[in-house]
Amino acid sequence: MTPDAEMTESIDRAACEAMDRADPLAPLRDRFDLPEGMLYLDGNSLGAMPKDASARAHDVVTREWGADLIKSWNSAGWFDLPVRLGDKLAPLIGAAPGEVVLCDSTSQNLFKVLSAAVALRPDRSVLILEGSNFPTNNYIAQGVAAATGGRVKVRLCEKDEIAEAIDEQTIAVAITHVHYKTGHIHDMAAITARAQNSGALAIWDLCHSAGAMPVDLNGCNADFAVGCTYKYLNGGPGSPAFLFAAKRHQGQALQPVTGWWGHAAPFAFEPGYRPQHDIRQFLIGTQPILSMTLVETGLDIHLSADMEMIRDKSMALTDLFIRLVEDRCAGHGFTLASPRDARARGSQVSFAHPDGYPIMRALIAAGVIGDFRAPDTVRFGFTPLYVGYADVWDAVDRLVAIMDGGVWKLPEHQVRDAVT
Ligand SMILES: *Cc1c(COP(=O)(O)O)cnc(C)c1O
Repeated sequence: MTPDAEMTESIDRAACEAMDRADPLAPLRDRFDLPEGMLYLDGNSLGAMPKDASARAHDVVTREWGADLIKSWNSAGWFDLPVRLGDKLAPLIGAAPGEVVLCDSTSQNLFKVLSAAVALRPDRSVLILEGSNFPTNNYIAQGVAAATGGRVKVRLCEKDEIAEAIDEQTIAVAITHVHYKTGHIHDMAAITARAQNSGALAIWDLCHSAGAMPVDLNGCNADFAVGCTYKYLNGGPGSPAFLFAAKRHQGQALQPVTGWWGHAAPFAFEPGYRPQHDIRQFLIGTQPILSMTLVETGLDIHLSADMEMIRDKSMALTDLFIRLVEDRCAGHGFTLASPRDARARGSQVSFAHPDGYPIMRALIAAGVIGDFRAPDTVRFGFTPLYVGYADVWDAVDRLVAIMDGGVWKLPEHQVRDAVT
């Protein structure tokens, strides 16, 4: 008998409940509003709502906006929010104060940092990205290349080809730290060093790692990074993204969307653009303040937790899920599409299954919220702040019922929605 099989045999719901009782992060679940009976395994796509968010939203709308109106740009600190919240997020990703700003979307921030990289390496012509990455990253890079009139090209590689592809023509390598579909973790230190040894820059997308695991941007000497706050950071739907620029590039790397919030003196209303010489040069214009204020409620929960503990629990939850699915759904056609070694895997588990779409529909109808990624991947995210071990047990229990009973074959589960 393999050690894994032994382990599975010894696990039942009572064992999972015991693990929850021993879990030092378990009390944090109380800081989130989660619907009764729902097993929410999609925090990698949209994080759950911090309980403080509704009171904060009410205060921002009624007092800061409704009563204080325009005075709130100063009195409520709206104007400084991008920088203040950037500083608050910085320790979660291994950045220093003044290196992170909250603004715009991940797609927009990627445009800015890729363009800055092109400007920093005028004699080079290739941007390297991962072809199977979340498509917006590649689309944005293609837009940056097109804006150079074709001088710059985008080269798409898969993970084992990246190191090989870097050469003296490489402007930057722009990789997503944790792959959105498989959960594979790239070696940030190694790829960054490989890029920089060739004179290239290293740009990291932290959409699937910020808030889910320790990230050490400065320890790895990263040049730029971007990421969203609505996934593991629980900032709310469409909440502003973040942008990291290492101190050494600030004031050096011009980004082309030269709006007034990035101007050295925004309220001097000068006719000509002069960039800020700090992280604010990456701002464009007025930010979605209502949404940005709510990001703080998620950050506050993270800052009260230990990131190493979050990572340990994340690995334990995903290990448990894999074991239980492979054991209890054996013979039902699921193939693990994530790394088996927890150290190489983010906080998610994906399985390939030819009927993945109707199976995910049936799961959602049964209160297990994961998602589907074409063509055949069912994906489950495990946010250690609010997912427990008994939740994993219950989710697999409902999956077993759907597979054993053939529930996913019902006609209502075959219909396609716009957002999967
Ligand atoms: C979630 C995600 C995005 C999201 O981009 P938006 O601009 O917020 O739509 C981008 N890239 C990756 C890798 C993601 O996982």
